[in-house]
Amino acid sequence: AEAFAGLRVTVAGLGVSGVSTARALARLGALVTVVDGGEGARQRSAAAELAAEGIESRLGDGATLPEGTQCVVTSPGWRPDSPLFAAAGAVGAEVIGDVELAWRLRDLDGRAPAPWLAVTGTNGKTTTVRMLAAILGAAGLRTAAVGNIGSPLLDAVLADPPYDVLAVELSSYQLHWAPSVRPHSAAVLNLAPDHLDWHGSMAAYAADKGRIYEGNEVACVYNAADPATEDLVRKADVVEGCRAIGFTLGLPRPSELGVVDGVLADRAFVADRRNQAQELAEVSDIDPPAPHNVANALAAAALARAFGVPPHAVRDGLRAFTPDAHRIQHVAQVAGVAYVDDSKATNTHAAEASLAAYGSVVWIAGGLAKGASFDDLVRAAAPRLRGAVLIGADRALVAAALARHAPDVPVVDLDRTDTGAMAAAVHEATRLARQGDTVLLAPACASMDMFTNYNERGDAFAAAVRALAADRAETK
Ligand code: ADP
Repeated sequence: AEAFAGLRVTVAGLGVSGVSTARALARLGALVTVVDGGEGARQRSAAAELAAEGIESRLGDGATLPEGTQCVVTSPGWRPDSPLFAAAGAVGAEVIGDVELAWRLRDLDGRAPAPWLAVTGTNGKTTTVRMLAAILGAAGLRTAAVGNIGSPLLDAVLADPPYDVLAVELSSYQLHWAPSVRPHSAAVLNLAPDHLDWHGSMAAYAADKGRIYEGNEVACVYNAADPATEDLVRKADVVEGCRAIGFTLGLPRPSELGVVDGVLADRAFVADRRNQAQELAEVSDIDPPAPHNVANALAAAALARAFGVPPHAVRDGLRAFTPDAHRIQHVAQVAGVAYVDDSKATNTHAAEASLAAYGSVVWIAGGLAKGASFDDLVRAAAPRLRGAVLIGADRALVAAALARHAPDVPVVDLDRTDTGAMAAAVHEATRLARQGDTVLLAPACASMDMFTNYNERGDAFAAAVRALAADRAETK
């Protein structure tokens, strides 16, 4: 920490993490300049706030490195090939991320650092980290769900009084810039192509995710159904005695890494070789009880157990957990049809998981495809599709995959991007649905072509469903 006193530090990005980073560094006596390529209302108000505390910001230019910079602390969204980092490299300034900074400051002023239980993966991170925090909380530990989830890690690391343990969500971006982080235990939930434009390749993306296992002390938790995650464990350099714990929804199989510890029948449990198969919770304790979400619960349970929480805390924590909005959220039941909002399914891997959770589905999909292919998703979902309603900029890509792999499924291609489009989609989906079906918003795409973000997209869906329900109640 003393290393930062008097150091000229440039903070890249004026978002939530950039602001928290700039403040912490200024408190440590660093000479901080924040740079941001944008100069919109959001940046200007953040800059004004920091200016009042004597911290300088430069807006509208994210490429020029301020004179004399000795270290750059970047926000997660900045691409590794950003010109700012090339400029830093040219003058020998180190580039680190907000997570790395938090790690280096965790024992500031001689405090006893809280161990990190870390989670990454393509999908399920936020859910798993929140489940983990609920379990740790149920065990009476002072904890917080932090990191990529939106609550700056640095603030939690410097909290007073300190936390007992932190449930840390790490994105592949953050791991890329966090070379010396060494979690107590960590989990990679799954690996599917995403953000490849940022990382450059699937191999680079996987390698960044795999960083989370480096130096683990007690357990590396992996997904036994996803060999890519197991591979990352095998490649990791861990502390002697650190165990590999696989979770699985199926029967455990012997693994060359050790036992596979997660088993699910109609009950979920994480078994430990030494404790035998200790029953921890039942599937009905998990909300929603969709298979991928049970997998998230197993990962959370495995990390909590690695930290030594008693079995009852796993059950209590999972029962106390309620899912975040727009993640397989039940909105209403109207005329025998369930309406479910999974607006957060912004990639095909996530949408595939939520489609797999229902028997007969009218699927609302489309948006910005981010270069994804929809073939695997549609092939897997085809047998359960009652129909599909397509919205958004890249809906033709989804339509083409449906034509290839589900030619008999009725498709309504809504050529609209106006504000009423979601209500029209709900209306069309309702026409296709029969009693017992689920109308599922799981777009498999980003939302920014039609909405500010996935929250707004999910809200539009829920509002349309509620209007429909009110309509039905009236005409009755
Ligand atoms: P993340 O933080 O990784 O984006 P979330 O917990 O917010 O993950 O879930 C995002 C979406 O991914 C959810 O809406 C759901 O559809 C899907 N999802 C959640 N967990 C999993 C999983 N284990 N495997 C596949 N998809 C999942």
